[in-house]
Amino acid sequence: MIEVNNESVTLSLKSDQTYDLPFLWLRDNCQCDLCRISETEEKQFLLHTVPADIRPESVEVKENTIHIVWPDAHNSIIPIDKIIESKNKDIQITSLGRKILFQPSMIGKVF
Ligand SMILES: [Zn+2]
Repeated sequence: MIEVNNESVTLSLKSDQTYDLPFLWLRDNCQCDLCRISETEEKQFLLHTVPADIRPESVEVKENTIHIVWPDAHNSIIPIDKIIESKNKDIQITSLGRKILFQPSMIGKVF
């Protein structure tokens, strides 16, 4: 159901849907209370504060939610429903991944 690759996690759902989720995308879409202000869903987490080559320590699926442990001990929680919803805006995710993964030197200048 879930597979960890070099730069992404592959999530396979029962209905033959497969989602390729870059590590940075997963970190950026963390739904935990530290990364989101729950009332407004405003993002607290800033993507440039993590290394561009961040890799999860562990990834598991429990009750339709992906649980990820990162090297800095942060625990990410991402409901699978949220992934399906976000993946419908696929272009945005792909371009985000490219920007961060292939132009890491840009980050410091932009911010
Ligand atoms: Zn979080």
